[in-house]
Amino acid sequence: MQVNCTECGNKAIITSRQALDPKLANLYCVCKNAECGHSFVMNLAFSHTLSPSSFQAKKMMVEMLRGMDRAEQLELLAQARNDMSVI
Ligand SMILES: [Zn+2]
Repeated sequence: MQVNCTECGNKAIITSRQALDPKLANLYCVCKNAECGHSFVMNLAFSHTLSPSSFQAKKMMVEMLRGMDRAEQLELLAQARNDMSVI
């Protein structure tokens, strides 16, 4: 990950990272330009999901199955097995 100095535009190095939340961190940066020497803090924030994690998908499926009665659960599993045998 590259961070540029907000004063001179040169590359800066991240000296430490302070996690505030799983989706937000403060990055402590120092400009590599010796003549500038700017040190600053940047925020690194999660924006949005493009493709869900497989962990998330499994969790959602379990939650959905829990909301169904036994007959519906078995019917869906049977359908899933039939669809898989076609592939
Ligand atoms: Zn700089």
